[in-house]
Amino acid sequence: MIELRNLQFAYGESGFRLKIPELCIPQGRRVCWIGPSGSGKTTLLHLVAGIFSPETGVVKTCDVELTALRDADRRDFRIANVGLVFQDFALLDYLCVLDNILLPYRINRGLHLDSSVRERAQRLATEVGLGDMLSRRPTQLSQGERQRVAVCRAVITNPKILLADEPTANLDPGNSMRVLDALDSYSTHHKTTLVVVSHDREILTRFDDTIDVSEFCVKSQLMTSGSKDDG
Ligand code: ADP
Ligand code: MG
Repeated sequence: MIELRNLQFAYGESGFRLKIPELCIPQGRRVCWIGPSGSGKTTLLHLVAGIFSPETGVVKTCDVELTALRDADRRDFRIANVGLVFQDFALLDYLCVLDNILLPYRINRGLHLDSSVRERAQRLATEVGLGDMLSRRPTQLSQGERQRVAVCRAVITNPKILLADEPTANLDPGNSMRVLDALDSYSTHHKTTLVVVSHDREILTRFDDTIDVSEFCVKSQLMTSGSKDDG
């Protein structure tokens, strides 16, 4: 469950502003966020994940009011409960595939890394065709393989919420389908709320709802943000 009320967020210098009176996404729902480049899709995803805090309003994720938590608690909550696939993957080049997948367990004091977690990481990697690449570094992988590592890392903690920021951008159709199938399959089996940011209208039929994030963006800022292209 994701719940936003009376939310306002602005970046200090750019003048960009999001205003959201109310947005609720029930648990288990699969939603696609669309909108032109610069309309605030990544910003909104980071507000839901608790990476950013709004100026005013309430953000509730998995029934926890993130806006009432201190920064360190919000971070721990996010790593343990929210699976996030970043727009640029955010893999660490000095770690192998297996250690990249296990990263949430290395950076959150509340998560315990044991042999069952390692086995799960290996199983997830095998499911998406990375089973024989566990000891490789991200620089030794194709774009599609790196994106699949990012998906495995996002789901390793069994999150209740899975957020993916343009997970198929820069992928060929075959790899796009593979990544979307992995997200779909995970969310179906675990009744996970899934939010995927995309500008690919062909994939919209996979989702229960489509939300245009530009509705929440203060118009004058969007008009001056340059590109009208999606992205
Ligand atoms: P989208 O993901 O829809 O392309 P973003 O959420 O990344 O859009 O950005 C929304 C707007 O906020 C853009 O105009 C962008 O330039 C601006 N912006 C993004 N990050 C920052 C930042 N750290 N500081 C100031 N402005 C930012
Ligand atoms: Mg973005």
